[in-house]
Amino acid sequence: MPAHIDGMPIWYHPIYTEGIHPDARFPRERYVELINRLKSLRNSNQFLFLEPNKASRSELVIGHDPYYVDNFLNGKLSDKEIKRIGLTPWTPKLIPRTLRLMGGAIAALNHVVENGGIAGNMAGGTHHAHYDFGSGYCIFNDLAVCALLALQKHNYERVAILDLDVHQGDGTATILQNIDGALTISLHCQENFPFRKAVSDYDLELEANSSDEQFLQKVNQAIDIAIKFNPQLILYQAGVDGLATDALGKLNISREGMGERNKLVFEMAVKHSIPTVVFMGGGYSKPISHTIDAFCDLFTAAAEANNRFTNSHSE
Ligand SMILES: [Zn+2]
Repeated sequence: MPAHIDGMPIWYHPIYTEGIHPDARFPRERYVELINRLKSLRNSNQFLFLEPNKASRSELVIGHDPYYVDNFLNGKLSDKEIKRIGLTPWTPKLIPRTLRLMGGAIAALNHVVENGGIAGNMAGGTHHAHYDFGSGYCIFNDLAVCALLALQKHNYERVAILDLDVHQGDGTATILQNIDGALTISLHCQENFPFRKAVSDYDLELEANSSDEQFLQKVNQAIDIAIKFNPQLILYQAGVDGLATDALGKLNISREGMGERNKLVFEMAVKHSIPTVVFMGGGYSKPISHTIDAFCDLFTAAAEANNRFTNSHSE
């Protein structure tokens, strides 16, 4: 039996905020604001905050073109490649940030492989990163890399990627398109980026301005698809940019609706004893406090579910 761990592990590093240029349009303060919020909760001991190591080059190339990986690591991406990623003004700090972010995802994966239950990375869900280029704030694809590590290194046979961010997981879909053991499910708004959609194993599309009811109906569909696959692991991209207050997402989801989504996902994980990794995903509300609220709800629900999950297994 693994040693008993108090609290759900969440990997976090200050570089998640500080590694992005302060003038970038990306709301980098969301990471530091969220960690401060989680630490200020009365029951903050339900979380165990851990600092990630840097991912290694060999971990990155499991899902990416070595030429692209080396160009990024050596600061040699072209202006065009940088523009497509969009985390501008570019700063060399993005290199250690990206490695820590990938390291946090891999550490959370390794944790649930070893211990079961639920663990999370307080960043990432970088689903727009493709095999040989980055896009839409994403440099390397943590979901695809973790899926491939689970299949190839940990010898899992079935990994489900459940992507409930408002944007399609296009990079994940293309990197994993010929990988039988990886099931990609993306629920997204059809009118949001990327405008040329990739083909996931399952794409569930919502029209702009869809309500909680329409959203949760599709969430239930996505969960049914995941369960039928009988996955040994779920990688949950839990972006909250479907909120009505989000500046980028075009859906009309309330904080309560987003909370209900998380509840449905975590209930599935507990009921079927499926180890689950939470990837934070997008969230760009104005003001950003709405995004922080929804992410606080997410990690709180994850920790509560993890408690039930681990208790049901230790008897
Ligand atoms: Zn998104």
